[in-house]
Amino acid sequence: MSNVYDVAVVGAGILGLATAYHLGKSGLRVIVLERSDPAMGASIRNFGMVWPIGQPLGEMHDIACRSREIWETVLVQSGIWHEKTGSLHLAYAEDEWNVLQEYLAMNREAGAKVTLESPSEVKARTKSVREEGLIGAMWSSMEMCVDPRRVVHGLPAWLSKTFDITFRFGCAVTGYSSPTLEAGGEEIRVNHLFVCAGDDVRTLYPNLLQSLQMKPCKLQMMRSQAYGDSWQIGPMMAAGLTLRHYKNFENCPSLSALKARVAKENPDYDRYGIHVMVSQNGQGEITIGDSHEYGVDITPFDNPYIDDLILGYLGTFFYAPDLKIAQRWHGIYAKHPSKGYDILHPEPTATIVTGVGGAGMTLSFGVTEKAVSTYLGAKS
Ligand SMILES: Cc1cc2nc3c(=O)[nH]c(=O)nc-3n(C[C@H](O)[C@H](O)[C@H](O)COP(=O)(O)OP(=O)(O)OC[C@H]3O[C@@H](n4cnc5c(N)ncnc54)[C@H](O)[C@@H]3O)c2cc1C
Repeated sequence: MSNVYDVAVVGAGILGLATAYHLGKSGLRVIVLERSDPAMGASIRNFGMVWPIGQPLGEMHDIACRSREIWETVLVQSGIWHEKTGSLHLAYAEDEWNVLQEYLAMNREAGAKVTLESPSEVKARTKSVREEGLIGAMWSSMEMCVDPRRVVHGLPAWLSKTFDITFRFGCAVTGYSSPTLEAGGEEIRVNHLFVCAGDDVRTLYPNLLQSLQMKPCKLQMMRSQAYGDSWQIGPMMAAGLTLRHYKNFENCPSLSALKARVAKENPDYDRYGIHVMVSQNGQGEITIGDSHEYGVDITPFDNPYIDDLILGYLGTFFYAPDLKIAQRWHGIYAKHPSKGYDILHPEPTATIVTGVGGAGMTLSFGVTEKAVSTYLGAKS
């Protein structure tokens, strides 16, 4: 009965892999079906930032922290590279520093584990920060850097070795009528289907997902040459533009002044949704991004002007010797119009995990743990 499984998972991006992990750990016989060989979606195109600090305190932050905890277990057990780098939000303008102070004041009581640091304290953490004009930074120890390509391409082998999980790559799922799945021209029988199809919101449940008005978002990214051990940036970093981007800073009173200043200084930062962050992987490659273009603004063609804006801003806070751009690419994710994620049950034998937007690496293991435990609870 080779084509009979307890559960099938569509997609071997990070949500599909994390779902397979939770299902496999509970002893089920699982098959993961991925149309590309290997997976090439958003999960290999990101910074590899496991970034709980970007989530507002409360449910989303709790999920992000739980997710980070599971990430660490999985990466230690699988022996896949990761680094507990922590993160810095750098302030070079008074309004940026005010936002960071307000964030700290508003969230300290609620348990935010962050501190504000002086330029000399920042300098002690990293030699990659521009000192000129630096007012200070917010340090958080929670953030962890993973290498998206190594994780997405390395985890399947570990998952199948560790649990009863089978992977089929180059195998598109084209239809599901419980209990039969059509995949790669074959029929597979399963008790339940998990759909983790990333920005493909059309193939399996077109009407349902379109009615949710899930928004596709395109991001342009770059990567430097490999520095090896010769230049280590230390913490992952963000600066003033990022304070406009993540919901965690939304309630800071000084944010509106910061936004107004940025819009006046260069309206193209808003037009192309630019904020600039950096991470560094185990080979010493520095990943740099990004921009945000939505819906009808998305084309397959990258805009060199956007890369120039990103690199121009990068130069205001970041330094690495003789930095060269070795790779450029873009990625697309699906963003829920109002929520941080969505777990849908289009029929009793199917679960869709979607809508994680720009925080899917961070939330992956936490959100899928919820989805899988709901399924296991209903089953028992
Ligand atoms: C440029 C960029 C930077 C980002 N940076 C970060 C970051 O640093 N930290 C963070 O937390 N998040 C980040 N994100 C967000 C994160 O990458 C995504 O939220 C996450 O990767 C989504 O994972 P996924 O598994 O849902 O989607 P994907 O990785 O896109 O995987 C979906 C998979 O499903 C497969 N598939 C689809 N339909 C079918 C089918 N019918 N049959 C078989 N296979 C199918 C696809 O081929 C694909 O491989 C970033 C995103 C981008 C684009």
